[in-house]
Amino acid sequence: MRFKFHGWIAEVDVEATKRAYASGGPGASAECGCSECANFAAAREAGYIYPAKVARLLEDMGVDLTRESEVFVESPAHRGSLVYGGWFNIAGELLEGPDEAVEIEQGFELLACPEGAVVDDAFGEVPVFRIEFLALAPVMDALRRKK
Ligand SMILES: [Zn+2]
Repeated sequence: MRFKFHGWIAEVDVEATKRAYASGGPGASAECGCSECANFAAAREAGYIYPAKVARLLEDMGVDLTRESEVFVESPAHRGSLVYGGWFNIAGELLEGPDEAVEIEQGFELLACPEGAVVDDAFGEVPVFRIEFLALAPVMDALRRKK
């Protein structure tokens, strides 16, 4: 299925993406389990990470938002918030689009890249690209408790 989003065009194999997320491992945050990852998961559950239109786009592509391919702290906690980076691998091909991140809304940037990274074996042999994000998130109770 053809997707046009924020200047990018991608041909996505939605069924293969759904299959890969359904049969793959847990998300990177669940797999890691450190306090920053627990904070990310708590912020996501509370609706802080993905703007509604980004969540819809990724889900339309077949992504399970609870199973991010990678997530890490991009910059440390400052004034009660911190910036996370990460990405989702998606079955399909990125056809064109900008080489730089696009700010979708304040505190959230998106960047589509032509290659997957840390691709779960569940994707098999299909071509994979990835959608990266930078997200400003609050420090939730989950992180405060562990500090
Ligand atoms: Zn972690």
